[in-house]
Amino acid sequence: MAKEYPIVVLGAAESGTGAAVLAKAKGLGVFVSDAGVIKERYKELLRKWDIPFEESKHSFDIVLSAKEIIKSPGIPEKAPIVAAALAKGIPVISEIEFAARFSRGKFICITGSNGKTTTTLLTHHLLVRGGLDAGVAGNVGNSFALELLNGDHAWWVLEISSFQLDGMFNFRPHIAILTNITPDHLDRYGTFQNYTNSKMRMAQLQQEDDALIWFSGDPVIRRELERRQLKQRLIPYGEIAPDNGDGAWIENEKIIIRINNDIMSSTIENLALQGRHNVYNSMASAIAARLAEVRKMRIKESLADFQNVEHRLEFVASVHGIDFINDSKATNVNSTWYALESMTKPVIWIAGGKDKGNDYTVLGELVRQKVKAIVCLGVDNTKLKTFFGGMVQTIIETSSAEEAVQAAYRLGQKGDVVLLSPACASFDLFENFEDRGNQFKKAVKSL
Ligand code: ADP
Repeated sequence: MAKEYPIVVLGAAESGTGAAVLAKAKGLGVFVSDAGVIKERYKELLRKWDIPFEESKHSFDIVLSAKEIIKSPGIPEKAPIVAAALAKGIPVISEIEFAARFSRGKFICITGSNGKTTTTLLTHHLLVRGGLDAGVAGNVGNSFALELLNGDHAWWVLEISSFQLDGMFNFRPHIAILTNITPDHLDRYGTFQNYTNSKMRMAQLQQEDDALIWFSGDPVIRRELERRQLKQRLIPYGEIAPDNGDGAWIENEKIIIRINNDIMSSTIENLALQGRHNVYNSMASAIAARLAEVRKMRIKESLADFQNVEHRLEFVASVHGIDFINDSKATNVNSTWYALESMTKPVIWIAGGKDKGNDYTVLGELVRQKVKAIVCLGVDNTKLKTFFGGMVQTIIETSSAEEAVQAAYRLGQKGDVVLLSPACASFDLFENFEDRGNQFKKAVKSL
């Protein structure tokens, strides 16, 4: 008979390996199973901790003898092994759900289609600068499980993806930020409503004393909140002031934040993160920091001295008067919309990659107004060419970052901006979005 383990971890990348190591450190019997090849650095970690694992297969008998399965976010629920476990009634949870059992801290959780990483890092910055003991984890950097092994914190700022949320049941986000819900990952969720429901789990996990900070400019969130009978404190942020109560809004080029009838403000010009979407992200982070009782003055200073995050509207260089901007992290249509919206010069737009079921309609108007040429950077560019063909005079195809940068440079003139904001995932030509952004920057620097 196969050996039995109370805990089986499916998938051995960042979150799976982290969960396995934490389980082992807590004295639990754990086995790791990955249908693909495990990266060497994760294998090393598993060996170091003496954790049994298998790769390139799932042994159903071992996996299905588990009391609990921790599933990595990359594995879909319809994968046969997961379906079999669910059919057998084995709880399938996410790494965050598991790891949280070992923390006594309070959680500030950020989810949404776009702005998660930026808002997570900014919120963490505000807390730490405010003198709080705060850790940061989740979809940024190390897994929460691994970070926890380095020590618990009074506060945790966690970036949570919809895939993580799908495996969260008893986890309690004391403060949650919902930045927006726009179409993404439709290849996995099938319908936008399924994806929306997944994001809304964040609200559902909260209790009466908790707070949900939500973007009031998002019609989907607004509708979903109206539909649900939620008991927690709801705090909107966006362009317009809420009728009364807590919230954040924009007035005379300032952001205003009102919490418990106490008001603070900051001039938009002074915010470290520029672009309308980042004004919203700053408001959300500031509300969370106020709820954590960071002093207003500190929040103001920290909103101004935050260092922008790499690959998000990152200014790379100006070459012969042509600016180059790396927004490689824009892997869906909505994030690219904000990138194009914030451009003030004629744009040569580098776009494309692995399409996740994109509908480009919302970009049409901005592209007509601002884009003079499109440089496609993907294996299959048919959809981009068909959609934007009639709107832009020049559309060319390239298949490497270097080729794309050189082509964009040739098409550009002094006063233009070359924007890499692909609206697509990167896996067709690159290892990940970081690789795509780094290759882009390297190519710009060697012009
Ligand atoms: P995520 O972690 O959700 O992918 P990031 O902070 O990494 O979010 O940003 C991803 C992309 O979305 C970047 O191109 C960024 O400029 C853009 N972006 C950031 N914040 C927002 C927002 N609030 N709304 C829309 N787009 C945003």
